[in-house]
Amino acid sequence: MSGRFVTGEPFGVYVHIPFCAQRCDYCAFVTYVGVDDLHARYVDSLRSEYERSQGEGRVRPATSVFFGGGTPSRLDPDLLGSVLGEIDRAEGCEVTVEVNPEDADADTLGRLVAHGVNRFSIGIQSTAPHVLSGIGRTHRGESVAAIAEAVASSGVSTWSMDLIVGSNEERDEDLIATVNDLLGHQGAPPHLSAYLLTVEKGTPLSRDPARHPDDDVLAHRYELLDELLVGYGYSWYEVSNFSLPEHECRHNQLYWRQGEYLGLGTAAHSHQAARRWWNIANLETYIERVEEGSDPTAGEEVLDEASRAFEGLALALRTSQGVPLGSFRDLDELDGFVVQHGDRLVLTRRGRLVADEMIRRLSVEEGSFSRDPE
Ligand code: SF4
Repeated sequence: MSGRFVTGEPFGVYVHIPFCAQRCDYCAFVTYVGVDDLHARYVDSLRSEYERSQGEGRVRPATSVFFGGGTPSRLDPDLLGSVLGEIDRAEGCEVTVEVNPEDADADTLGRLVAHGVNRFSIGIQSTAPHVLSGIGRTHRGESVAAIAEAVASSGVSTWSMDLIVGSNEERDEDLIATVNDLLGHQGAPPHLSAYLLTVEKGTPLSRDPARHPDDDVLAHRYELLDELLVGYGYSWYEVSNFSLPEHECRHNQLYWRQGEYLGLGTAAHSHQAARRWWNIANLETYIERVEEGSDPTAGEEVLDEASRAFEGLALALRTSQGVPLGSFRDLDELDGFVVQHGDRLVLTRRGRLVADEMIRRLSVEEGSFSRDPE
């Protein structure tokens, strides 16, 4: 770690690791199976891309680094560590790595921590084997207690687990049992991300309408989940994210507050000074482009002030910070969907279920947009 304090705005670095053991049925992420021979070349490309970005003045000391995927834990921890070692980090920088449950052993986690990782996000999805096989996951409900023990022995002070909720194979009892498995013991994860199953184009799930989740069931499961988590003392701070106090994910908060970040790797997105750009979404082309010393950017956009203001409101509405009073065109029709907290309007549980519809009712002209509501 660089040992420097950051006095300016937060700055994030996202590192995309596009390797998986097998493709899950619902997944539309840019990720590859059967190309593990490319790990070392890819890691070299990530390091080169970071250096290039430094040379172009697009890097500041990071306040958060996030290795996402794909499956970052599929990389050898030393390879991942060699990328992390390259990144200039501010004192206290949050460094998260997404880990698949089958990789969450004490040795792997300990080696990642030795390289500077201080937060894990573990994709457990469910603890019910029939739910996991129903969404095409290869792991089969690894013991949550064993994972929690491995995390505790690694010494990190905060971590998260991911859930996928609402598949056709899941019943209420499965979700209740999963939440109890996750939280009903010492050393439970202080943060949970819970995503309702969505049907993404081009996935095996999308080609099989009989397996598409039912909207009413999804809504019911979300309400059930929220109730269960509240019972365990967890609060929502974004529609799909819940935590105990002080365990919110700093990196994700940066996205929701329109903060600046650099994305490294194939398909990674970056945002600085109202400009967004994204890298080539093809692994080999990305590597070749970086190896020949070229820019791996595939496209860019610059948001005008009004679009930026609307996006800021939309992102804020999905969080428990909410939006300023006056941000909606017609508040009368939103009874039961938003509630006033001080000078902010915040989604109720019912409102969170229809967050996209609520966003369509926002009005930038009437709202006094603030970039960081805190
Ligand atoms: S492990 Fe994650 S990134 Fe890989 S295929 Fe499954 S859902 Fe997609």
